Amino acid sequence: MDNSKYNVAVIGGGPGGYAAAVRAAELGKRTVLVEADALGGECLNRGCIPTKAMLAASGLYRRMLGAADLGIVADNVRFDYGAVLRNRSAIVSRLNSGIRQVLAARKIDVAQGRASFASPNELAVVGNAGGSRSIGFEYAVIATGSASVRPAFLPESPRIVDSAGFLALESIPESLIVLGGGAIGCEFATLAAQFGSAVTIVEQADAILPDIDDDARALLLESFASLGVKVLTGATLSDVEADADGVYGAAGDAEVYGDILLIATGRRPRIDGLCLKAAGIVADNAGITVDAQCRTSAVNIFAVGDVTRESPRLANWATMQGLVATETIAGNQASCAKHVASCVFTNPEIAVAGLTETMAGRTGIAVRAAKRSFAWNGRALAEGAERGFVKQVFAKDGGHLLGVEIAGPHASELIVQASAGICGDAPPPHPTLSESIYSL
Ligand code: FAD
Repeated sequence: MDNSKYNVAVIGGGPGGYAAAVRAAELGKRTVLVEADALGGECLNRGCIPTKAMLAASGLYRRMLGAADLGIVADNVRFDYGAVLRNRSAIVSRLNSGIRQVLAARKIDVAQGRASFASPNELAVVGNAGGSRSIGFEYAVIATGSASVRPAFLPESPRIVDSAGFLALESIPESLIVLGGGAIGCEFATLAAQFGSAVTIVEQADAILPDIDDDARALLLESFASLGVKVLTGATLSDVEADADGVYGAAGDAEVYGDILLIATGRRPRIDGLCLKAAGIVADNAGITVDAQCRTSAVNIFAVGDVTRESPRLANWATMQGLVATETIAGNQASCAKHVASCVFTNPEIAVAGLTETMAGRTGIAVRAAKRSFAWNGRALAEGAERGFVKQVFAKDGGHLLGVEIAGPHASELIVQASAGICGDAPPPHPTLSESIYSL
């Protein structure tokens, strides 16, 4: 074989591409992973992990402020934001070097640079330090992820940032406008408010987190209220101006102000510059179309993760697709589960697998729900976290389990057991301790 020809070339080293490359090598394929930036992708470097490190730190700070409720005296509780950031960086570096070691142990070549298709069997990779090389492949897996969307009406200002920009801030803003009440917006609102920031969420839709049920949302809204988070729903942000003192705007009838405005209005697939046409791949602004085995319109090229159409934009979905793509390449039977569990790491955490009552109602499926409160659960009481519930959603017709929703302590871990049978053997939510049981 020509030295630069691989059985499998993977573009992108996030949870989708990393899983694909590892499984391809384990299945005996000569594999190369091309990454333009840091290994681990958006997930490790600017997404799942850094946000959870900061949610853990700010959550602990909040808990210590209320420690007297558990009989603990904690005087003069403060935080050192610089130290929080250093701890976060250390976690990211450690996991990054872990990925590097796993790739090396499986003899996966890593090509640092930006890939584009030169033909259906060849990539052109432009190195970060200039220079380019060509990589031939039998099969390719596109796992280039997604980028945040910046609404055109927002002015350019260092005070108006996306999630990556927020994570790069050296101090916690005294006040914050969060534009968008989806999972990312709600998690940032939680972490900033837990650190004492005065947060206003502006959401155009009638509700934040529209796919969850009202009772789960009510718990989150109660928690937001106790943190002083203002939630403006059915409100369109307009007339935004930013100057040296802050960001100002209107949200419906209300005036809003923040030291920083965080954009959390969604993400778009990262397909620009890939020259998909040169490989015969059909895609549009919504992403690359794939089938249940992650095949694109080009027979030897697969796509996984956030870059694919209709992706729920979750790391565990990307990982599942990466594994399915490479099993398929190796000629094995594999197919994506219909659902993976999704979690919002707010306080309380909210985890969903399969259908909620809300989703079932929207699609006209008749369901029956069984709900159990944590108010009589000893563990929840012991932790001072009895607000919450587990709700199972069954088909009215047939009685089989269609979904589970959990709001409360450790929801992201509990959902794994509760959702067996809905998510098949799909990877558990990320990041969770439950991942240590699931083997890649
Ligand atoms: P990515 O992780 O985005 O990786 C894509 C990689 O491809 C990147 O490293 C990029 O540099 C590289 N790349 C792109 N183009 C090229 C090219 N042409 N050549 C070479 N390399 C290229 N999901 C969860 O499940 N749980 C969470 O708690 C969670 N929290 C999140 C918090 C935030 C703030 C954000 C933004 C996202 C979060 N997500 C979370 C979503 C999760 O990060 C994504 O679903 C996941 O990273 C998608 O994985 P991926 O492999 O498709 O792409």
